[in-house]
Amino acid sequence: MDLFNLLSKIIQVKQAESLSTDELAELQRSRFQKLLAYTLKHSNFYREYYAQHGIKPAHIKEISIHDLPTVNKHQLMENFDDVVTTKDLTKQRIQEFIRDPQNIGRKFLGKYEVITTSGSTGEPGFFIYDQSAWNTLRALILERVSKAELNPFHRARFAFYGVTGGHYAGVSLAADAPRVFFNTLLCSVNDPIQEVIRRIQEFQPNIISGYASSVHTLAEQQLQGKLDIWPKRVVCSADHLTETMRENIFKAWGIDATNFYAASESIGIAVECGLHTGFHIFNDWHYLESLTSVHPSTGEGMSASTLMTNLYNYCMPVINYEMYDEIELGENLCPCGWQFPMMRNVAGRVEEFLWFKTPDGGHDYLHPLNIVVLAAPGMQRLQLHQDSQESFIARIALEPEADETRVVDSIRQQLQLLLQQKHLPNIYFQVEVVDEIPLDPVSGKYKFITKAL
Ligand SMILES: [Zn+2]
Repeated sequence: MDLFNLLSKIIQVKQAESLSTDELAELQRSRFQKLLAYTLKHSNFYREYYAQHGIKPAHIKEISIHDLPTVNKHQLMENFDDVVTTKDLTKQRIQEFIRDPQNIGRKFLGKYEVITTSGSTGEPGFFIYDQSAWNTLRALILERVSKAELNPFHRARFAFYGVTGGHYAGVSLAADAPRVFFNTLLCSVNDPIQEVIRRIQEFQPNIISGYASSVHTLAEQQLQGKLDIWPKRVVCSADHLTETMRENIFKAWGIDATNFYAASESIGIAVECGLHTGFHIFNDWHYLESLTSVHPSTGEGMSASTLMTNLYNYCMPVINYEMYDEIELGENLCPCGWQFPMMRNVAGRVEEFLWFKTPDGGHDYLHPLNIVVLAAPGMQRLQLHQDSQESFIARIALEPEADETRVVDSIRQQLQLLLQQKHLPNIYFQVEVVDEIPLDPVSGKYKFITKAL
């Protein structure tokens, strides 16, 4: 039944690819009105919030997305029980579900996918997808991103290399690749790289997906002669795919990596085509708008956040939602022929890896996305400063009234676990509480990793 639902969504997604610009805009508008009508009826939070801004159910036909007030993660988390449109989802029950490690890889109540966000914007949160929303998302990825041949008689070998062991966007989507078409291998950036190489070598994937930086590490291993695999497709997301990474992936496997734009709030928003003119926005299922603000150091205008509307999520509506990502909407269509509008300059997070010496004289790393997901109640920000090949300092800024000892102990334990899992007992670190972690003067943002090497 689920497979039938997924296949029907794939057909729907495929059909939208042959629509004209006007037809896509019309489809987007009709889906928006349908979602808005449903949300006003079933979400107490949105109904009251919109009413405060003079928007009532009777106005639906005249309302455009630009008439609606924006929402942010804090509002959705704070009012979670009233945001969702179904009574079986409550913040408390979801939090309990997330806390129990037994639930990794499981759906809440057997039917809702729970995706947790990192604390990179200060506040961790979670987003819920019901079966229909999840299948729309999977259809978008299968049809427009991974483009794998769906052949039950010849299942594709699909390897994911990223942060596993949690309800994170990348691993959740990868783990749920339909088994009838895919044989899936999940590898963690927390595992020693030698072990990952051995598993991937043995598995011989046809498709590799993961963070641009982690997939690039595999390409480097191949170029150094430590890995010998011949994937047909490489799909990256999450962090920035730099030109060097793209070139190395091409040198390693003769493949042009496919880069797509995703967030926990919608794990498939846009994808690059082979012409590399930018990302094509899946505007049949999303609205995107770019907002500008002032750079904290230079005082110049800069694109600072993005408003995103997810048109397929009915159980937890995400409408005119502020994401802290920089994008620039393109004015022209791409010469490739796809009518999906363009966006550029996704200033994806570029954080450095922490490369260390291993006890046997080799090298292994801590992945920046691992640092982003470290959290402790009372911790405001964390930064790791690498000062040698075998040591680093963890700098912590606390919330007012935080219990310093508890925060420090918790972060120390989490870091020790990471090092243990990576088999890096030789790495020494100290935890330092600081008044403030300064913004990076170049980007105007917080950096999770700095180096003195
Ligand atoms: Zn294109």
